[in-house]
Amino acid sequence: MSLPKPKRILLKLSGEVLMGDQQFGIDPAFVAELAAEVKAAKDTGLELCLVIGGGNIFRGMAGAAKGMDRAQADYMGMLATVMNALAMQNALEQLGVPTRVQSAIEMDKVCEPVIRRRAERHLEKGRVVIFAAGVGAPYFTTDSGAALRAAEMKCDALYKGTSVDGVYDSDPKKNAAAKRFETVSYDRVLADNLKVMDASAVALCRDNAIPIVVFSIREKGNLARVLAGEGVQTVVQ
Ligand code: UDP
Repeated sequence: MSLPKPKRILLKLSGEVLMGDQQFGIDPAFVAELAAEVKAAKDTGLELCLVIGGGNIFRGMAGAAKGMDRAQADYMGMLATVMNALAMQNALEQLGVPTRVQSAIEMDKVCEPVIRRRAERHLEKGRVVIFAAGVGAPYFTTDSGAALRAAEMKCDALYKGTSVDGVYDSDPKKNAAAKRFETVSYDRVLADNLKVMDASAVALCRDNAIPIVVFSIREKGNLARVLAGEGVQTVVQ
């Protein structure tokens, strides 16, 4: 099943997709490929907000597991998302796509602070807006940041590009018989703890009736297919 053609979306990419085939960090060639997909989507007239994770550089939970203070580690994770946002801005602008980064942690030498009305104006002018630093608070993730920005920017849907092609009833890497949902309810995702996004992000989308479209961003051209309602995906609504 697919959604009506959206006018404005929030695209969430996990930090890991920026690594390409590397084990860590940012692969500029792969970011350029992603940027080309984002440009193609934008060229159809779509208004685009982006949120990029930071897991390719640092995750607070991983730091905490090694003895760091969780909040301190989470702030490092948020800074990682700003680096990814700047990398994506660079790649988009090299393709001629005007892009603004707005960070939930203010750092006025490198990007704008999050200001909803200003972001609105950027979208009206055809700019892509990348929201960095999640919600700007520890103990959250960029999934929650994505749900929050999707709600405040009144996006028609949240598109989550990951390395799997949808939501399964069990882990497809461990269970060959795992089945992919075409569509699944927010409540089932929460009750069965299905791997989509954090529970807080799913609940925020549910409470604001924002559909979540989960798809694989690893396959070339898939974003365009999914936006056209043709690609393999799971819709949570
Ligand atoms: N983070 C945070 N608050 C936020 C967003 C992110 O503390 O609002 C931190 C957290 O440590 C997280 C890290 O930033 O692990 C990177 O984000 P995330 O894990 O969501 O990245 P992804 O898995 O999407 O690459």
